[in-house]
Amino acid sequence: MVQLEDVLRARGRIVDSVKTTPILKSRQLSKRCEAQIFLKSEHLQTTGSFKIRGATNRVIQAKKEGVKFVAAASSGNHGQAVAYIANNLEIPATIVVPTDANESKVNAIKEYRGSVEYCGTTSAERIPRAKELAEELDGMFIPPYDHPDIIAGQGTVGLEILEQVEDVDTVIVPIGGGGLMSGTLIAIKEKNPNVRVIGVEPELGYDTKLSLERGEITPVEGTHLTIADGIRTTQPGTLTFPILQKYLDELVLVTEDEIRYAMSFVMERMKQLIEPSSATTVAAAMFDKVNLNHEKVVCVISGGNVDLQKLSELLVKTEGSN
Ligand SMILES: *Cc1c(COP(=O)(O)O)cnc(C)c1O
Repeated sequence: MVQLEDVLRARGRIVDSVKTTPILKSRQLSKRCEAQIFLKSEHLQTTGSFKIRGATNRVIQAKKEGVKFVAAASSGNHGQAVAYIANNLEIPATIVVPTDANESKVNAIKEYRGSVEYCGTTSAERIPRAKELAEELDGMFIPPYDHPDIIAGQGTVGLEILEQVEDVDTVIVPIGGGGLMSGTLIAIKEKNPNVRVIGVEPELGYDTKLSLERGEITPVEGTHLTIADGIRTTQPGTLTFPILQKYLDELVLVTEDEIRYAMSFVMERMKQLIEPSSATTVAAAMFDKVNLNHEKVVCVISGGNVDLQKLSELLVKTEGSN
């Protein structure tokens, strides 16, 4: 299992490539939640999400091992992160994306000089293709969450939270494959087990909740229906799941309407463009999924990559708005 040592080592490795993102505070959000709410702002991270942390930790080591090519399967934040860091380290990268991939995301990958290959519409088609490419070109496949280096890299978010928010009581983190959550849990629980860590999933993508209840990894269908496109995974990872079983305090679910409302609230009141996957943590705080009781609470804002053409479909009117 990944340990605190690994997260500390990851931080040393990636410190020059990633930002220490700011903590934002909103009086209105705090008032509404009856708690002190802080936002850990990974939407302001390089490439627009925390994914650059894990990807950098993995690709730096691949380079050290003499790897001459990397491949990933993702049209989203992981694909952008791998393309960005590979370009920085002067390693060619191919990102395998679905045939219906959003053009702005594909363009972002190309801007980071990643090659784009289209393949199928599901990750079940894309992942084998990316692995095959890596093998053919004597390169390395970079997975999005289920690898010790990825988990350790994402865990640096947890280290920063402990340093930036003194006496934090509760940290709320979105869960997809569980890389961000498992890394954050290791960093926080192995430094200060008294900090409460709560996970969030959309009701439409409750695979980790179900898996924890059953005590074994259990896939669910229909997760592609949530607007939270960064956390549409169908099941938790084999490395991430045991870490969640060991350390996670609670896992709550939010509805699509709650995600939209939270996203709109943050955009309107705080002028921050956050993506639906990140808005889940704010929704959990706003809609009383967790008893916050005037605590110091950090909501992890995991990313800010939104297709601007679709933005108006995601937003709703909030009470008291103009
Ligand atoms: C990938 C991603 C997540 C989920 O991270 P996992 O490590 O897969 O659990 C959450 N939010 C955003 C914005 C993401 O890109």
